Amino acid sequence: MHAPDFSASRLLPGVDLTAPGKRAGQIGLLHSDNDNPLGVYPIPAMCIVGGVGPTVLLLAGVHGDEYEGPAALTRLYQALEPSDVTGRLIFLPQLNAPACTAGTRVSPLDGGNLNRAFPGAADGGPTAQIAHMVSACLMPVCDAVIDLHSGGKASWFVPCALAARGRDGAPDVANMALARAFRADVIWQLGAANDDRSVNGAATAHGIPCIAAELGGGGYVGIDALQIGEAGVRHALIQLGVLQGKVPEAMPRVVELSAPGHRVTAPVAGVYLPARAAGEDIAAGERLGQIVTPAQPDAAPTEIRAETSGLILAETRRAAVVPGAFLAFIAGAA
Ligand SMILES: [Zn+2]
Repeated sequence: MHAPDFSASRLLPGVDLTAPGKRAGQIGLLHSDNDNPLGVYPIPAMCIVGGVGPTVLLLAGVHGDEYEGPAALTRLYQALEPSDVTGRLIFLPQLNAPACTAGTRVSPLDGGNLNRAFPGAADGGPTAQIAHMVSACLMPVCDAVIDLHSGGKASWFVPCALAARGRDGAPDVANMALARAFRADVIWQLGAANDDRSVNGAATAHGIPCIAAELGGGGYVGIDALQIGEAGVRHALIQLGVLQGKVPEAMPRVVELSAPGHRVTAPVAGVYLPARAAGEDIAAGERLGQIVTPAQPDAAPTEIRAETSGLILAETRRAAVVPGAFLAFIAGAA
């Protein structure tokens, strides 16, 4: 079992990620500012090492206002013992810890979006340094990566597993096998043009199987989304041979955001009233919702119609919108 090499990183490893057993600690992010001039920003890190087997990196809290993944990984760590694990599990349940503490999507330290910061830089700002630590120190010793997300405070996603296509644009066999094992009802296949500055992109660059998951959102932890997330991670770990058990058969719906009009945004400012909910199918031309302007009571509402047919994969949870604000994703068959 290889020890991660932190020599290229400015972060301070404060937990043994190699010795057999189960332990929790932290990785220290050195960032000197007015709030914390000489201390560290601790990033929680846990590890369970059992018998000889694969190493799986379990990430959540890449965005700090997404609570389902951190909860699911913390509960999984507490439930498992080394005797349950064939291989090694590395847990980073609040990877962008400063953002998690603040409850914000991006880092309060530098405004960085960690899922657009890979592969990062050892000498970059705090967000780039965290990305670099994951990409340069941890991924080289990992055999698979699972990265849990949700819609955050701003939006809500149908619980789903995300599998990136390979570099040649074809569906990636290993990623799809993991996504199927996750057993959500929906698999969101990420196109070849997926942003390569993401966790998925970094794993693809390392040639490591990786799935992400979207587990609801809205700034709270939904009962169904948490259950789907917890069961999904366990099933994926069974598929990887790290946990014992059987992955039940499933026939998930595979969708993709590829058609023009898949991203629905507000054309005008006002209050958005959805007429259709995430999880429903909608046909091109049908009404998705309307925007009203209470300050102009004589103005007609602005109707929002779907430009493409498919599954409403995600919806905004912000009623007050400005031009360009996200309203929904409509996903077609992959
Ligand atoms: Zn996210």
